[in-house]
Amino acid sequence: MNDDRIDTKLVHSGIRRSQYGEMAEGLFLTQGYVYPTAEAAEARFAECGPDEYIYSRYANPTTRMFEERIAAVEGTEDAFAVASGMAAVHGVLVPLLKAGDHVVAARALFGSCLIVLDMFRRFGVEVTLVDGRDLDAWRAAVRPGTRAVFFESVSNPCLEVIDIAAVAEIAHAAGALVIVDNAFATPVGSRATALGADLVIYSATKHIDGGGRTLGGVILGTRDLIRGQIEPCLKHLGASISPFNAWVMLKGMETLALRVRASSATAAQIAAALDGDDRVARVLYPGLASHPDHAVARRQMQGGGTMLALDLGTRDRAFAFLNALRVFTLSNNLGDAKSIATHPATTTHAKVSAEDKAVLGIGPGLVRLSVGIEAPEDILADIEAGLAALG
Ligand SMILES: *Cc1c(COP(=O)(O)O)cnc(C)c1O
Repeated sequence: MNDDRIDTKLVHSGIRRSQYGEMAEGLFLTQGYVYPTAEAAEARFAECGPDEYIYSRYANPTTRMFEERIAAVEGTEDAFAVASGMAAVHGVLVPLLKAGDHVVAARALFGSCLIVLDMFRRFGVEVTLVDGRDLDAWRAAVRPGTRAVFFESVSNPCLEVIDIAAVAEIAHAAGALVIVDNAFATPVGSRATALGADLVIYSATKHIDGGGRTLGGVILGTRDLIRGQIEPCLKHLGASISPFNAWVMLKGMETLALRVRASSATAAQIAAALDGDDRVARVLYPGLASHPDHAVARRQMQGGGTMLALDLGTRDRAFAFLNALRVFTLSNNLGDAKSIATHPATTTHAKVSAEDKAVLGIGPGLVRLSVGIEAPEDILADIEAGLAALG
């Protein structure tokens, strides 16, 4: 199974069948487990085997299938699934950090990630934010005592691509762990750990579910880190994924590569069509040669991804564009089968200060697009209708 290609792993890895030989992944919707004798219970609590269970806050067969499948796809030894992407973000940091530690993070982060990092400051962790694309800034920020660096490999919403290998080299030289939020890049063809990440996290809510149904998250890394540090802490903190949600994620993974490739191909078509169109001030797509991080994207991503951003200049123009869309749904999710358009400045990033918005490039005219799997012709026609509405 280890030598299979990603598409095969997405369908088959991690499956374990009960005595009934069910075709589909079994949904073990159970809080706990029973033991035939008191002695058996004692033995289970003394040493829980790799496919034995005590309580679903600790582990569950359906959740385990999801963990093993995504670990196989990512190419890591193990994974620990949690209730949401944010449970993964704080769940990867809590077990590793103590008062007095130092963390360096890229400043272009998902809003809730910035809030979580701020909470760690209350517990005596020092946090330094840097421009993630500026390698000298990482070099200047890390120091002995830097426990971890944290960044999104492709940032939200401006799609900055951070050079995982280069940042990992700087971090490792200082003895820091490298934690990558790889949600935008997706696990399809991801090489974050091959490039030096020690721990990779995903909001499974996005491309892995792919149908906007459930929340979920996952932390991936070596068995030592996952079972030695992450699990012993997180199984007591309670942000466990529901077995039902883990089951939805397993079924979502079956079509993940097909969806990501279809969406990325259409996103690339949109970017190419709009690059140089004078109705659009700026097209941000890592797959475009004009993107400032195109060379890094080519090294570390398979294709340009499913997300792009357009700068239409003003809020009025952005709203006119958004309100004319018919195939794109206005929402704040991403990675869905449905195409989704978002106005970050007034929704996902509304609480970011004006100064920070300016630094991060989140202007009033910025529109973020998550490209779905509808017919490319219909998606492109929808974009054209949006632009036509600009007058
Ligand atoms: C959505 C997202 C998260 C948070 O995930 P939830 O499942 O909503 O908790 C974290 N990081 C990135 C990059 C995201 O896009």
